[in-house]
Amino acid sequence: MKILVINCGSSSLKYQFIDTETEAVLAKGLVERIGIDGRLKHTPAGKEAVVKEESIPDHNKAVSMVIDALTDPEHGVITDMKEIDAVGHRIVHGGEKFASSVVINDEVIAAIEECSDLAPLHNPANLIGIRACQELMPGTPMVGVFDTAFHQTMPEKAYTYGIPHEYYEKYKVRRYGFHGTSHRYVSGRVAAILGKPIEDLKIVVCHLGNGASVCAVKNGESVDTSMGLTPLEGLIMGTRSGDLDPAILQFIMNKEGLDIDGMMNVLNKKSGILGVSGISSDFREIEDAYAAGDPAAKRANDAFVYRVVKYIGAYAAAMNGIDAIAFTAGLGENNAKIRKEICEYLGYLGLKVDDEKNNVRGKEVVFTTEDSKVAALLVPTDEEMMIARDTASLVK
Ligand code: AMP
Repeated sequence: MKILVINCGSSSLKYQFIDTETEAVLAKGLVERIGIDGRLKHTPAGKEAVVKEESIPDHNKAVSMVIDALTDPEHGVITDMKEIDAVGHRIVHGGEKFASSVVINDEVIAAIEECSDLAPLHNPANLIGIRACQELMPGTPMVGVFDTAFHQTMPEKAYTYGIPHEYYEKYKVRRYGFHGTSHRYVSGRVAAILGKPIEDLKIVVCHLGNGASVCAVKNGESVDTSMGLTPLEGLIMGTRSGDLDPAILQFIMNKEGLDIDGMMNVLNKKSGILGVSGISSDFREIEDAYAAGDPAAKRANDAFVYRVVKYIGAYAAAMNGIDAIAFTAGLGENNAKIRKEICEYLGYLGLKVDDEKNNVRGKEVVFTTEDSKVAALLVPTDEEMMIARDTASLVK
């Protein structure tokens, strides 16, 4: 089947067009600056990217440009939009309603709308993408794949916060977790690479990108993860604070004269690696500054690594041991130094890094020694392939 995978943001739309029979990515692209001015970058497999700059006032126009690009006689990959068998949409928050991917219908749309409260920046944009596709491709089946779904197996003790239970009963305040599609894909690959049934494995997946989260996967199920009600909790991220003493909010708000929106803006956009280093949210710049002896870069680097290590330790306790640790996403896939620094803390688990094997980027590898008690792996994530697979299997 040929599946169009859509990841729709408020002013952008990423897409991949995937043949699920061969798992080949036939084309991919990005529409940016929707509602501002407009730019589409379309890359057919094995060919140069083409860029189109024209007015893109809304997502309907963005979707119609994607269809035009896919069917273009010169750089298209199909001759007619009827060759798009189905569309898979990435949806950020499925609340407690979705524990797996679903075929989108009116009821599902209403349920996604209900979850918008929990992800006010993301779910409304995802819905705009769904509606634009429905309008332009009536009759083409659509599937929703949720970032939160994989974590719905978490036990109550892992998703419960230490606050009055009435807030869960009234408002569903609990840990949900995100990056679920990535954690599911990567943990599946770990089992395949190690040649063991996933039902017999205790895996920690470290999704380390600009947004970052750690997930404990026991017997193929997420049993705990570092992001919470929102993607603000957990690790120190590019610009997000991750875990902190909640009383810090009131303290800083009083000192700085900030209201709650201003404070949340600091925690989401001005904190993390950017805030701690004062240099950048991009780890490449942190690495360069660190190498040049900048103490602020070292502070950010070390705090980031330490937080990841603490979560791995917590999940070793939660699962009563670890068989494998996998690294993925921008930083996890490209930064051998960070992987090594994290693993150096894990000697107590019997984990031993093979430096030569670790010295790679973006390809699947087990980078621990033969006698290491815990396997460490680099596994490039592929959320789009997962969305395409789910979509194909649900609409078949
Ligand atoms: P992501 O959000 O998954 O794109 O990851 C972003 C983070 O990964 C940034 O901190 C980048 O520094 C890092 N990153 C992404 N690509 C590369 C690369 N090719 N080489 C080194 N670091 C990278």
